[in-house]
Amino acid sequence: MTETADCIVVGAGVVGLAVARAQALSGREVIVLEAAEAIGTHTSSRNSGVIHAGINYNAGSLKGRLCRRGKELLYAYCAEHGVGHRRLGKILPAFDPDTGEAKLATLKARAEANGLMDLTWLDRAAIRDLEPELDAPRALLSPSSGIVDAHELMLSLRGEIEDRGGAIALGSPVTGGHVGDSLELEIGGANPMTLRCRTLINSAGFDAQLVAAKLQGLPKDTIPPRLLAKGVWFILNGRSPFRHLIYPVGDHTDHHGIHVSIDMGGQLRFGPDLEWVETVDYRVDESRAAIFTAAARAIWPALPEGALSPGYAGIRAKTGRGRATDNDFIIQGRETHGVPGLINLYGIESPGLTSSLAIGEEVARRLATVTA
Ligand SMILES: Cc1cc2nc3c(=O)[nH]c(=O)nc-3n(C[C@H](O)[C@H](O)[C@H](O)COP(=O)(O)OP(=O)(O)OC[C@H]3O[C@@H](n4cnc5c(N)ncnc54)[C@H](O)[C@@H]3O)c2cc1C
Repeated sequence: MTETADCIVVGAGVVGLAVARAQALSGREVIVLEAAEAIGTHTSSRNSGVIHAGINYNAGSLKGRLCRRGKELLYAYCAEHGVGHRRLGKILPAFDPDTGEAKLATLKARAEANGLMDLTWLDRAAIRDLEPELDAPRALLSPSSGIVDAHELMLSLRGEIEDRGGAIALGSPVTGGHVGDSLELEIGGANPMTLRCRTLINSAGFDAQLVAAKLQGLPKDTIPPRLLAKGVWFILNGRSPFRHLIYPVGDHTDHHGIHVSIDMGGQLRFGPDLEWVETVDYRVDESRAAIFTAAARAIWPALPEGALSPGYAGIRAKTGRGRATDNDFIIQGRETHGVPGLINLYGIESPGLTSSLAIGEEVARRLATVTA
């Protein structure tokens, strides 16, 4: 049986839901197709939950622009809809007395080139005032960084979609399709069917490339590489010694390095690390505790022995190796693949949670331009 819909979004992670909400707000009839039996079971519930300020992205990049816009939209959204969040602030310490200050200056200049003007310098005494357990000669303070309850956010977005007549179809994996003059999807699961739509947004996270590959008529050379980078966290047993997010500047080329985040319940986590993987496997290797303890002690030397427990893992949706700043979000429309009404979202790694509402806005803008 073939059904028709105005707008279909594939994937009910935070980005798919934010995109679908923007479409629903503009008056469109939206169906979100989700392979799993619940919303947000993959990357959107396996991240640091940090509202990033937009410090570490290249000027002019989508990550930089959508992170800053997304942060503003997200704080306003959370306040208006009662979604748990806290503007904790982030301290970026440099522990190396020789090279640290220069690295921080580079970071500050990059943030300012990107329009983020609120970073301030901290010396050792000012750091101690804010965080008595943190000892570093120099740091930057980012007052607009914070945390959000991603699950509450997704529930709220879902509620808005449904209030406007949209539907979230769980257990509905996209198994095939055809794009061109018309857009058609094959849906598997308990009630297999064919769905035809006017607008299709592929927001399947790290599986977006796999969904795109199933669409006959889509030029396959427009699909970027699919790389998976696993990150795990170890959790501190007991009370957090810190009140701020703490992101040391380091020498990592492909991720931030192990840092401190705090969840809405006040629990402190060290992580995530980065491991390139071939398959999605969320198990946490307990034997990494020693590596995490060493990395955590670089930030908090008083960390007691045996105080870390294995936490959880997430998978970054990457389109290339190298620095996260080198691989921008990809929001790909007709101008690249030639198919009217189709948007593919690739490489929506961090700061995708922060940027989610801005990605929704950006997709709506592009679709309005294309169909105008
Ligand atoms: C280690 C780590 C730390 C992070 N920390 C932060 C942070 O602190 N702050 C921040 O802003 N961002 C952070 N992020 C990034 C953020 O979590 C992601 O950008 C965001 O969650 C991506 O959401 P999504 O909806 O694109 O993907 P997902 O949440 O993965 O959702 C994709 C959905 O598509 C569904 N799907 C897949 N294939 C199909 C199919 N064939 N048919 C139907 N449905 C399908 C999946 O089941 C899934 O539910 C982090 C990410 C990681 C991995």
